[in-house]
Amino acid sequence: MTAQPTDSPASSSTSAERLAAPVARLRDVHQSYGRSLALAGAALEVAPGERVAVTGPSGSGKSTLLLCLAGVLRPQSGDVEVVGRDLSTLDDAARTRLRRREIGLVLQFGQLVPELTAVQNVAFPLLLESSGRAEAEAAAVHWLDRLGVADLAGERPGALSGGEQQRVAIARALVTSPALVLADEPTGALDTVTAEEVLAVMRDAASASGAALVVVTHDNRVAASLDREVVLRDGRVVGDEGSR
Ligand code: ADP
Repeated sequence: MTAQPTDSPASSSTSAERLAAPVARLRDVHQSYGRSLALAGAALEVAPGERVAVTGPSGSGKSTLLLCLAGVLRPQSGDVEVVGRDLSTLDDAARTRLRRREIGLVLQFGQLVPELTAVQNVAFPLLLESSGRAEAEAAAVHWLDRLGVADLAGERPGALSGGEQQRVAIARALVTSPALVLADEPTGALDTVTAEEVLAVMRDAASASGAALVVVTHDNRVAASLDREVVLRDGRVVGDEGSR
């Protein structure tokens, strides 16, 4: 008999239950940095395919909440589940695998590897998952094309504008077909027109691939362009508009 891998999806739930289940769930999450309390009982559920803005004043805990959802930060207390897996029960290796397969992360400045071309940056997550190079680069070109930057495939990040870098970063986040895309101020470094274009392309590409999208933003226009706005204050959710 073959042993089940420890990070295989839960097999006890029916497919109908899995469809109804949230793609991400935070319950009563507390996180502090020294004496500074960043999350004080934060709770949130994100449905599959849902597009959520997380807003709130500076210092209200938005980035910390995103890092907890991404499995980058282990909160001091509370539960974080992604695709039905309780992150606190996974060891580091299993959490990293779940993150690579199920979560795409987009940060403010793209965070591309400067020595790699656009196509190599986008192919990178697939190579980590042991895809072959030709297959990974073909998928990367496909996603660069979806994001409207296929002609820049051979360029290194230093030769790209801020908006182009973000498009490449979004392609990299989507290339593994994750269930959840997390973005922290993804358009915060862009001018207004470019920001609107990049946001629209991210929103549409995430939806087309069936991923839920959670965007931390202080920009009201970004929040208004998504389905739901969750407002944080002092580390707790104090508003939730447009939830299904
Ligand atoms: P936001 O994204 O809403 O601005 P953050 O999650 O970045 O909020 O921060 C919440 C609180 O935690 C703030 O008071 C911030 O100063 C503090 N904080 C965040 N990251 C750190 C850190 N690495 N070290 C110390 N304090 C931090």
